[in-house]
Amino acid sequence: MTTPAKEPKPKQLIVDPKRALMYVRWQDDHESLIPLHVVREACPCAFCEQARRRLAQGEPDETFSRASIEPTAVSEAGNYALHIYWADGHSGGYYTWSLLRSLCPCEACQASRS
Ligand SMILES: [Zn+2]
Ligand SMILES: [Zn+2]
Repeated sequence: MTTPAKEPKPKQLIVDPKRALMYVRWQDDHESLIPLHVVREACPCAFCEQARRRLAQGEPDETFSRASIEPTAVSEAGNYALHIYWADGHSGGYYTWSLLRSLCPCEACQASRS
């Protein structure tokens, strides 16, 4: 296994709304296929942060069940993050590369996290 770099950076990033997946090829050649709903639910903005807190406490919250998981535009913010615009108009979150990398559902990443 390769040691992950301190700050992961993507070499290639493709959003595929048809398959509801985000494909990221990282500088260390690791490939991530992240379901878009996972990306949406990890939105780091304060609004979604609160929704996640409510859900974690077992309170009802429809933020994510109503949220669109279709990105309309994706742009790089500086050199450190990805800004995603969703079809429902939500665009509050800046996904840092390390946040995106932490969403990778592959076995190797899951094992390194646990
Ligand atoms: Zn958000
Ligand atoms: Zn992975």
